[in-house]
Amino acid sequence: MQQAHDGLFIDGKWSPAAAGEWIDVVDPASEQVIGRVPAGDGRDVDAAVRAARAALPGWAATAPAERAAVLAAARDLMAERKEEIAATVTAELGSPLRFSAAVHAALPITVMGTYADLAAEFAFEERIGNSRVFQEPVGVVGAITPWNYPLHQIVAKVAPALAAGCTVVLKPAEDTPLVAQLFAEVLEAAGVPAGVFNLVTGLGPVAGQALAEHPDVDMVSFTGSTAVGRRIGAAAGGAVKRVALELGGKSANVILPGADLARAVNVGVANVFANSGQTCSAWTRMLVDAARYEEAVELAVAAAAKYVPGERLGPVVNAKQRERVRGYIRKGVAEGARLATGGPEAPEGLTTGYYVRPTVFADVEPGMVIAQEEIFGPVIVLIRYEDEEDALRIANGTVYGLAGAVWGADEEQAVAFARRMDTGQVDINGGRFNARAPFGGYKQSGVGRELGAHGLAEYLQTKSLQL
Ligand code: NDP
Repeated sequence: MQQAHDGLFIDGKWSPAAAGEWIDVVDPASEQVIGRVPAGDGRDVDAAVRAARAALPGWAATAPAERAAVLAAARDLMAERKEEIAATVTAELGSPLRFSAAVHAALPITVMGTYADLAAEFAFEERIGNSRVFQEPVGVVGAITPWNYPLHQIVAKVAPALAAGCTVVLKPAEDTPLVAQLFAEVLEAAGVPAGVFNLVTGLGPVAGQALAEHPDVDMVSFTGSTAVGRRIGAAAGGAVKRVALELGGKSANVILPGADLARAVNVGVANVFANSGQTCSAWTRMLVDAARYEEAVELAVAAAAKYVPGERLGPVVNAKQRERVRGYIRKGVAEGARLATGGPEAPEGLTTGYYVRPTVFADVEPGMVIAQEEIFGPVIVLIRYEDEEDALRIANGTVYGLAGAVWGADEEQAVAFARRMDTGQVDINGGRFNARAPFGGYKQSGVGRELGAHGLAEYLQTKSLQL
């Protein structure tokens, strides 16, 4: 694993935090402190924003091809350090190494590659009648990211921002700051000029809030809880600044009559238990027709048994999250749902590490708390529906609308259903992940889109010149 830096990365230099305070980094599997990073405060954020502001005119004026070359170099350097990235994420997030390599390291490399390509391909200028219309960078971006996919969340913001010609101050999650430091090294080595990318590690209510409320930040891009997102959105509204919010989800996996039930359940369970259930787009509500409901419960229990804690199923990120998830499991039992497998107790034989039993709830009513709130742990709920209209009502019956899945006898049936779902991204019959497809929420799941050209557009503003 990489050695932690004892500084913040501001204006191309690693410099100490103003307050001289530190945040311990803990391995969720061993519960041991594995490093520490500086805890930045408002003064550090201010220095970073000043550096980003000073660097903006130069970076915004670079040719898109030049920015594309820097991003391509960053992608290549990340690929060279792929194993180190995976080991770092495993150390600070606890995810099994194989998952870290396949997802936590591989995904951000892919996304960085898409922005190296898009920076070169994107039409930053178009002609509309007698007008020349330009897409220009929004300015200084404050990026605030969570711990669940630590490097992906960073790259999904920083790569399009840099491709657009913006400069960035990043405040990563306090639980996973080490891979953010590694990323700062990568960008510096790739030739990102001093001040264009700045990293301030620190606490959310201190460094995060200072960044979100800084008057000289033009746009805030946030991923995390709905509660914090709401505050950031309110502050951005007050200051009339651009905001992108990627918040929670309670996505539905709708298995229509005629679908391949075994495949739909197996893929659905894997989708939820991957990353210990800490995925905002996870299909945490499985909707099955009454005729095949019991069969689906049996299949889900069998699929859950493959997620052995400490092996395929990693811990959740910290003790607080573990208690939160266990609290939801207790709540489900108290609400009268049937615990088909799992439960709130520690997994057998695992006395160390923030592990939660893979848990399947059956006989869940759509209005129960465990069917409405984001649990963010290895917990899936199975809900029975009577007919397609009932399934649609249940699927659309939460405040969220981030993702989802539909399985049907044929693609047309599934697509027709998906078009009626109030949600931003739906996988049809196990459709493959697409790193260029726009990702983001309807309703309280957020504002704006990440990834691909739509993600790039978030960091641009439009100017038209009439000739
Ligand atoms: P938060 O929303 O608190 O954290 C996300 C990021 O925001 C972190 O960098 C955090 O810093 C920062 N932050 C916290 N408070 C503020 C603030 N007042 N102003 C500015 N930035 C702030 O999520 P949690 O880590 O507390 O997770 C709680 C729940 O949120 C989860 O159980 C899950 O339901 C949901 N969540 C959703 C995610 C998603 O991908 N949509 C990702 C993570 C969580 P710090 O790390 O220091 O707290």
